[in-house]
Amino acid sequence: MQEDRESEARERSRRLVHRKALDEKRRFEGRSVVPTRFVAACPLGHVDDLDWRRFAHRSDDGCRRQLWLDERGTGGDLVDLTVRCECGKSRSLVDAAEIEQRALGTCSGARPWLGRYAREMCNQPARLLVRTAANAYYPQILSVLSLPEHRDPVDALVAELADYLSAITHVGQLALIRGMPALTAKLAPFGDEELFTAIQRTGTGTGPDPPVKQVELDALLAAPEGFGDDVPVDPDFHARRLPNRIWRHGSSFSDPIAAVVQLHRLREVLALTGFTRFEAVVPDTNGEYETDVERASLAVEPEWFPAVENRGEGLFIQLEPDAVHRWLERPALWSGSTSSAPVIACGRRSAARRGTFPGAHTSSCTRSPTC
Ligand SMILES: [Zn+2]
Ligand SMILES: [Zn+2]
Repeated sequence: MQEDRESEARERSRRLVHRKALDEKRRFEGRSVVPTRFVAACPLGHVDDLDWRRFAHRSDDGCRRQLWLDERGTGGDLVDLTVRCECGKSRSLVDAAEIEQRALGTCSGARPWLGRYAREMCNQPARLLVRTAANAYYPQILSVLSLPEHRDPVDALVAELADYLSAITHVGQLALIRGMPALTAKLAPFGDEELFTAIQRTGTGTGPDPPVKQVELDALLAAPEGFGDDVPVDPDFHARRLPNRIWRHGSSFSDPIAAVVQLHRLREVLALTGFTRFEAVVPDTNGEYETDVERASLAVEPEWFPAVENRGEGLFIQLEPDAVHRWLERPALWSGSTSSAPVIACGRRSAARRGTFPGAHTSSCTRSPTC
C-alpha cells in the first residue's frame, strides 16, 4: 500500500505501508491509502506483493524504519521513482525492471486467484509488473468448431462396448461375447469379421487424436455439394460445397481456387484454458498449444473451463496448393527487408519478426524457400 496523497512534509513523496499496518477503516494514521501500481510476477502467472523493504536495502538487513516512494516528474516513469528508507538507503525502480539483476528476487510462486494456500514452486526471476498494464494477462484460448459426428455405426458400437470388446484378440472370441444376454441384441446387426475389423481399427483407442484444425479442415472439405438449399439439418454445422458452375468462370482469378464451401451454419466454441503474463503464447497453425507450454491454471485441479460460443456463417475458400507454392516462390516476396516478407496465418510474434513462414514448419513441402 502507499499513501493516497503526497505527504505535506515532503513534496511528491508517499509513505509505503504494509496492509497489515492499516486500521479497521483501512487507513494508515488516519490517512487514506491506495494499492501500489506495482506487483512482482512471472510469465507463469504467479503474482505477489513486492518486497519493498528488501528491494530498497538490497537484502533483508533487519531495518524496519519507514519506507517512502519518491516521485520526480509527473510522467510516472520508473526512472522517476525511488524507494527510500529513512535509514538513508534508497534504490531506483529502474533496477526492478532489470530481470538479469534479479533485484526482486525469485518468484514466490503465489497464485492468489486460487486462494491463499495455492503457492507452488517457481524458480523464475520475479519481474516488475504494473497491475493494470496490457501484459499483465494473456489468455490462452482454444477454439473449436462443432462438427457433425460421421461415425460408422459399427465403430460407434465398438466404442460404446469398449469395456467388453477391448480384450478381444481374435475373431473366435466374439461368440462368447455374443452369448452375453445384455449384448446379444446389440451385436446382432453386425457380422464377426466386421466387428473384429472395427475392434482392431478403433477398439484400443490408443492412437493420438489428430490436430483440431485438421479435423475441422477435413469436415469442411467433406461437405456435400449443394446450392440454394439453405435448410440446415444440423443447426451447428451446415456446409455445402458450391458446384463449380456457380463460381468458376475460366478466368485466371478462379484457377488457383480448388473449392468454395458455403458455410450456412457454424458454431465455434472458445474455451479459456489458462493464461500467462508478460508474453502471449498462441496456438500453432494446427490450432493447438504445444504440449510443453506452461500456463497459469484456472483452478487447483481444473474440472471445467469457461467457454463462449459464437454462431455465424461464411465462405471457406480452398486454394490449390501448387498455386500457393508458386506464389511463395516469387522472389519479390523474399527480397528486401524482412518486414515485407509474407506472414501467413501466423500468431507467433517471434516468427513474424523473423519473417519466416510458419506454415512451413508443419507441412511436408520442400519447394518454398523457407521449408
Ligand atoms: Zn532502512
Ligand atoms: Zn513464478
